[in-house]
Amino acid sequence: MELSISVHKHPNLQRKEKTSSMFKLPDLSSPPPAIPPGYGTSLYPGENLDPNNSPEKILEEISRKRKSTELATFVKSKVKNYRDIRKENFHLGKKYCSICSEYSSSVFPQSQVIFHNHNSSKSLRMSAAPRRWGVYPCSSCKTQLHSFKTGIRHPVLVTSSLLNNWQGDKSVNQYPGDDIHVDMIGIPGGTVRILHHAFMAEFGSSSTPVDVLVVGTVNDVMRGKDAPKIIRDLRKFKNDVLSMKTRAGAGGRSTFSVATPPFPPKIAVLPYEERVLQDNRFETLSTLTNMIRELNRGDPRLKSFKAPTFHTWGLKTKKLDPSFYGPRNLMEICTKYRDPQWREKIYTEMVHLNDSSRLRMGKAVLMFFKVLYGIVESKDIPKVLALEIEKQEKESRKRKHYDR
Ligand SMILES: [Zn+2]
Ligand SMILES: [Zn+2]
Repeated sequence: MELSISVHKHPNLQRKEKTSSMFKLPDLSSPPPAIPPGYGTSLYPGENLDPNNSPEKILEEISRKRKSTELATFVKSKVKNYRDIRKENFHLGKKYCSICSEYSSSVFPQSQVIFHNHNSSKSLRMSAAPRRWGVYPCSSCKTQLHSFKTGIRHPVLVTSSLLNNWQGDKSVNQYPGDDIHVDMIGIPGGTVRILHHAFMAEFGSSSTPVDVLVVGTVNDVMRGKDAPKIIRDLRKFKNDVLSMKTRAGAGGRSTFSVATPPFPPKIAVLPYEERVLQDNRFETLSTLTNMIRELNRGDPRLKSFKAPTFHTWGLKTKKLDPSFYGPRNLMEICTKYRDPQWREKIYTEMVHLNDSSRLRMGKAVLMFFKVLYGIVESKDIPKVLALEIEKQEKESRKRKHYDR
């Protein structure tokens, strides 16, 4: 799959790129649009560009076309009276969600007015005005100005506050940004049903295949839902995603994966702890972890079994290979919480992992997608590895600092 192709003309471009055989790198030695993130990988195998025939203009055209198609498809999928719904409710508060309230899905067959914070990278993209070369400013990618087209598939992280805006303040944590474009739907407080509806509102009519990763379910557990009911909601979400109609030749079928959630101290007491909690959800979370992994193993072709597992994050565990234990073992090997890894200070409030843990989790999500597209070699991405990646990055930053 990975070939080395050395590329033409411009001396800066005469380095070896890891790339696919379908890929033809445009000659961007004239004032260029940046090469779209992921270009030359199976996520975006490339356009058939002629280096001698203004490839940058063709890329610009492709970008502008993607923008108008994406926006038109989205608006067309809204309920017919969406303008009236907006008119009636928009003034009621800034949390009126025009994405979720103006769409009907299998979750809400009659459209329902919804107020919440809804972060959507796709929405930002659709409202961005194209700049020179047809690019737009993307806040999550390393390449900050890039094409509206970022691949032949859409990797989409669908999450609650667990990973909403996981990159945090990049000027503080020095994270350079993602090297492939991953869309994010982030709804703090979002249950599986809400996330499902939001996803369908944004991507349900897209003819480009999607790869969905859900990082959520804690809000459902907090509201007292049991594991089988949460799995039922996830299955409905999965069925809708797998039934999405994609264009012929558009890169295959869509996929759906779920990450196992962390066990927040606010709702779970570990077996070795002496704490007492009236509604201890440890058993629910353990069963849910098991069932999510079963759900992911359903169809090995979808590669969902490689979804990140966050159930040991924020916990101190005995040293075992994290990819091997299930909830039964988990009860034996998790010894206590790693308090500093949680954002809140006291157990009765601890629900969110802190910013640096969330950044590591986000990187694990990115890694999952890169494995899915064959950009990096597979394997589970356990937290041990994520910690190792962070350590290496810190060391290389330190080295750079001394090299100055
Ligand atoms: Zn919404
Ligand atoms: Zn981007």
